[in-house]
Parts: sequence; C-alpha cells; structure tokens
Amino acid sequence: MSVTISRRTALIGLAAAAVDPFAFARTQKDKPVGWAILGLGGYATNQIMPAFAAAQNSKLVALISGHPEKLTRFGAKYGIPESHRYTYDSMDAIASNPDIDVVYIITPPATHPEFTLRVAKLGKHVCSEKPMAPTPADCQKMIDACKKAGKLLQIGYRSHYEAHNLRAIQACRSGELGKIQSIRSDHGFNIGPGQWRTQKALAGGGSMMDIGIYSLNALRYLSGEEPIEVSATITNPPNDSRFVDCEDTVDFTLKFPSGLIGHGTSGYSWNPGKNRYEVVGSKSKLVAELATGYYGNHLTVDGKDLPVVENNQWAAQMDHFSDRIRHGGKVKTSGQEGLRDIRIIHAIYESARLGKPVRV
Ligand code: NDP
Repeated sequence: MSVTISRRTALIGLAAAAVDPFAFARTQKDKPVGWAILGLGGYATNQIMPAFAAAQNSKLVALISGHPEKLTRFGAKYGIPESHRYTYDSMDAIASNPDIDVVYIITPPATHPEFTLRVAKLGKHVCSEKPMAPTPADCQKMIDACKKAGKLLQIGYRSHYEAHNLRAIQACRSGELGKIQSIRSDHGFNIGPGQWRTQKALAGGGSMMDIGIYSLNALRYLSGEEPIEVSATITNPPNDSRFVDCEDTVDFTLKFPSGLIGHGTSGYSWNPGKNRYEVVGSKSKLVAELATGYYGNHLTVDGKDLPVVENNQWAAQMDHFSDRIRHGGKVKTSGQEGLRDIRIIHAIYESARLGKPVRV
C-alpha cells in the first residue's frame, strides 16, 4: 500500500516539477514521515500503534519483530504489506525501503543501544523508548552513532508532549505559582513476578529506571533546573523474589543550583500505586494526580481544578519528531535529555550505595 502511494506521490511530484522546479521538493516536505515500529510488545501495540490514527504528519509504514506471528497479526490489522514486515534477522533491508524515515525502538532498555546503532547505520532516524539505556556510556554511544550517521534521535518522554504536563510547566515558569519553594514527585506501582523489568541485565536497574524516571524527569522539567547533587536511600522488602536483582523503593533528593530541593520517590511494591507531583510556590500550590498517566491526568491549584483540554500525547510526540525530520530544528526530548536522566539515576544508585550525597 505505502509503496503504491509513494510511487504515485513521486510521479505527481515529477510531473509538477516539469512546470515548477520546486514542486517536487515541496511534495516531499509535505509527505507524512514514515515510521517503523521495532518490538511489538505491550506499549507498542496498545499505545503507540493506535496513536497513529490521531497523528498529523506521522504514518505507520513498517513493522519489525522477533515473532513472525505478530508481524502477520499486526500487519493485517494496520494494513502493512508483507514487503514492509521485517524480523530482527531481515531488518537490514529497511536501508533500501524509502518509505521508512524513522524506526521507533520499543524494547527492553538494554537492547536500545544495539538497535539504535544498527538503525542509524542503516540510514534511518531513531526514536528510542525510555529509559534511554542502562548506562551513561551506552547513551553516549547512541548519541554518537546518530550524529555520525547524520540522523536525529528522540527519546520517548511522552509527558513532554502531554497537555497537563505542558500546563504545569507553564504554571511553574510563568510566575503563576510565585517563587517555587518546594517540589516533589512520586511514581510507583506493584509489579508482577517474572518480568524483564526486574532483571537488571535487560532493565538496567529496577523501579528507578522504569517508573522512578518519571519522578526524576518531572522534577527537572517542572523546576527548569539541572541538579548539582543527589542523596538517595534504597530499600528492598526482605524475602521477595522480585527484588533479588533490582531495587524496589528509592527515596531521593535533588539539590538544584538555585537552592531548591526536589524530593522524589519510586517503587515497585506499592499497592495501590502512586502517580503524583506537587509544586509549592510562594503564591499557590499545584498538585497533579494523576500526573503522568496515559489518560486521566488532573491538575489543581490551591485545591481548585485547573482545566486542561486533553491531547493525544503519543501522536504529539511522534508528530514533533516528524516535524523535526522534515523541517529541521531542535528535538525536544533528544538523546542529551535521555543521557541526563541516566547520569542522575547512576548518581542516585551511587549515593544509596555510599550512604552520602553525590555530585552530579
Ligand atoms: P514488553 O515486554 O511488553 O515488550 C517488549 C518487546 O520488545 C517484546 O514484545 C519484543 O517484541 C521486543 N524485544 C526485543 N528484544 C527483547 C528481549 N531481549 N526481551 C524481551 N523483549 C524483547 O515491554 P513494554 O512494551 O512494556 O516496554 C518496552 C519499552 O517501552 C521499554 O523501554 C519500556 O520502558 C518502554 N515503555 C514506555 C512507556 C511510556 O509510557 N513511555 C510505557 C511502557 C513501556 P517482539 O516480540 O515483537 O520481538
């Protein structure tokens, strides 16, 4: 299907170019950006793939999976022709598929670096899910590989594109709340046993990498500052098989250059879970709960609802990257953004291990 459309588009463009030399370039710039999804797991199939229906300039054109059965099932569901379905073994052929502009990597974190290096080398832009990678060195490799290939890199921090979070950032920056005096963010849930998320080799860590990263990232985007020092404590419940290889509860503080202290938590054994942040300013207090959910985010200021028109955060995230691919400009949640979080998470681990504050 996409091949037919792209040939037709090319023919229309060439015909137009006969009368207007800039017309072909214009049709290419206006063409939706073609996305391939790599890794057809829960997040890809339940959130990302359905979101293309709400996207303006991003189009799902290809699938990459380790399971041929998934390629058949989701290929049929989304109208992806067999020529645009790949396994990890056959995916090098994407290099010669002009319909694919970007590959969205939605696999366990430890696999992000290898897939990113591979995709960049194949000449495609990369969007990688969070957490970017297990270590700062891995993140740097991903940044360097995309730079070397002349390709853009986006990290899937959907909250940066979500309407409530954007409104909360505006409230923090505009002075609406007064001077920010205290800020905290809590994210945790109760994880089931036997998942890759509790295996350090695939997840890079435990709750902090997977869900605590929302607390950390929110403290950074709400304050608009980068921490200079962290202090952290980690506790694991005894005799719980889920936490032999990864951390459960993390309690951390971030010291910002202005003197502001950010307080964050993360947990994998919390039932019920928590998804919340709170900013206390000299004039008003903002509370978000849910703060970074898929749906149902809600803001109050001094106890009163702050109305926000919902948006499709996944479509907004993909459309932003598509726009940067077509028209240039800075990627909002770049590799540098992903790297900053991973550096701080490692400082959090180090502080908990040493039992003292660590400079970032
Ligand atoms: P799943 O386990 O549901 O899916 C992961 C998929 O990755 C698998 O189905 C598989 O796809 C592929 N894969 C490739 N290599 C491996 C491997 N070695 N082990 C296991 N799976 C592999 O995970 P999620 O979809 O929940 O998470 C994937 C990524 O998305 C993670 O980085 C996670 O942190 C992130 N995520 C982000 C969210 C957000 O809100 N931004 C929410 C949820 C997840 P296949 O069978 O097709 O090969």
